[in-house]
Amino acid sequence: MATCLVTGGAGFLGSHLCDELLARGHRVICVDNLETGTLQNIEHIRGPEFTHLNIDIIEPYFVDEPVDYVYHLASPASPIDYLRLPLHTLKVGSYGTHQTLGLAKRHRARFLISSTSEVYGDPQEHPQRESYWGHVNPIGPRGVYDEAKRYAEALSMAYHRQQGVDTAIVRIFNTYGSRMRPHDGRAIPTFLRQALDSRPLTVFGDGSQTRSFCYVSDLIRGIIALAESGHHDPVNIGNPDEFTLLELAETIKELTGSSSEIVYEALPTDDPKQRKPDITLARDLLGWSPDVSLREGLQRTIDASGAKVLIG
Ligand code: NAD
Repeated sequence: MATCLVTGGAGFLGSHLCDELLARGHRVICVDNLETGTLQNIEHIRGPEFTHLNIDIIEPYFVDEPVDYVYHLASPASPIDYLRLPLHTLKVGSYGTHQTLGLAKRHRARFLISSTSEVYGDPQEHPQRESYWGHVNPIGPRGVYDEAKRYAEALSMAYHRQQGVDTAIVRIFNTYGSRMRPHDGRAIPTFLRQALDSRPLTVFGDGSQTRSFCYVSDLIRGIIALAESGHHDPVNIGNPDEFTLLELAETIKELTGSSSEIVYEALPTDDPKQRKPDITLARDLLGWSPDVSLREGLQRTIDASGAKVLIG
């Protein structure tokens, strides 16, 4: 049994990670100040193997027991959150990542940071390989998130190269599943909420921009496999099946049996036109690939939502 510290453990992905680590017999320390997460996501977890510490990771913090793995997921993640919290987002990526890397160093723990496909920006390479350096607007509204993550990647590599910390970087592509907040602004919870409420589905632009959607259980399996490998360079984890936003909206309408119409709204600033991971490295290195199709994952998400809300 290992002791795993999960920052952001009360969030969407973090709470699923806590569940899986506990199911595998590990002890979990969840560090989360509930900025965008909620106690509802972890209230089902009982027992001495789980602890929640309400800590803001921007400040120095310490844990008074041995830690074997640090999964660093804390960060505003949806555009609605990081546009509302631009300075906090930059501070979490910088100070928060410094504090957490320092903790991993003190405990001689393996450290994994959750980076993002947003480090590729509006990509000029398709699909995106880890070797692609990206095309990011640093001064646009999304820059606070994209650059915080790019800085956090640089910081992780510096702690690895200079301080000998055993670091890993996962570049997560759009992931969905239960416990996404219905109003978090991301496409899948928005379309599901609108379809279930019989409201129009709001597609940005003409809906031809593409995304690749990974079901949460596939992602968590990939993250743990990477943490348990000895790899230090970034690894993409995501589902390479690519859909236009219009296809996504139509699939959600069909699966929910909704008669909502589809309406079109202006594209947000710097919205990437296409997004698709090249997962060759994850396949070769970790033997990982996703199992859950978009239709299957959406159906599971709808079932877990109780047909009204996505907190499941
Ligand atoms: P989320 O908002 O649900 O979870 C983030 C968690 O971090 C929340 O519980 C929040 O309270 C916590 N947090 C924020 N600031 C904190 C602070 N200063 N101190 C302590 N806790 C703090 O988001 P998520 O979708 O679960 O994303 C988790 C991670 O995965 C993020 O780092 C995000 O950038 C990354 N990621 C997610 C996706 C995705 O599709 N969900 C895609 C790419 C990357």
